[in-house]
Amino acid sequence: MASDVVFLGGPGAGKGTQAQIFRDHGYRQISTGDLLRDNRARGTELGKRAEGYMQRGELVPDDLIVEMVAKALTDGASVLFDGFPRTIAQARALDELLASRGRGLPHAILFEIDRPLLEERLLGRWTNLRTGRVYHEKFNPPKVAGIDDEDGSELVQREDDKPDIVKRRLDVFEEQTRPLVEYYRKPPASRLVSVDATQPIERVTQQLLEALKIRASSWIAQ
Ligand code: ADP
Ligand code: AMP
Repeated sequence: MASDVVFLGGPGAGKGTQAQIFRDHGYRQISTGDLLRDNRARGTELGKRAEGYMQRGELVPDDLIVEMVAKALTDGASVLFDGFPRTIAQARALDELLASRGRGLPHAILFEIDRPLLEERLLGRWTNLRTGRVYHEKFNPPKVAGIDDEDGSELVQREDDKPDIVKRRLDVFEEQTRPLVEYYRKPPASRLVSVDATQPIERVTQQLLEALKIRASSWIAQ
């Protein structure tokens, strides 16, 4: 059975960075932020409906998000959900969606990191909007400033990585997404493990590999 995993953590915690790395470990990445930005770039109806929320740093309504994820979820490879779910309603909908597709309940990995470091990461982030690949001007700089090492695309600072919106996004995380920690920890069996997301990128990857290995054996036992 597929072992689907939710990356849970504030904006800037490093979820997207790790999700890209785990593509090489056989996982498929579903990043709702990337999917929404792609819809906006293509001018789809969904993109138009999501735009205002994203610009303000608010969450896009649950029904739009859940429908988008249901369309993106195909049979086969285990999926890493990056940036989804972000509300309790989305978490419940994901459990139901996976069950309806004959997949087990997802496990969650909490990226633990405090707010000042999240702010620093978001304010220094440079993004390739075409692929979702990210850099940081201090922690993970590209070889040439403003250019993606991999495909030569231009890197940009996202509009919602500006200070006011960053503050709002971090508040929204605390109010609406943090409660998912308890959701995934709930008895009878906790589905949550934590990693120290303040560590350098390679060290976080190591912790995730370890966590996924342990989880994989308990999934088999279930
Ligand atoms: P998220 O997807 O959780 O919003 P990102 O993966 O986009 O976070 O990372 C946010 C910023 O922090 C990016 O600029 C990225 O290069 C940088 N970053 C990611 N992981 C680390 C890390 N472990 N240490 C230092 N910087 C990191
Ligand atoms: P991200 O790239 O994950 O930081 O997401 C960027 C923006 O997209 C967020 O600030 C929200 O406006 C929107 N978004 C992404 N994922 C979700 C989600 N699961 N639920 C609601 N809104 C989302």
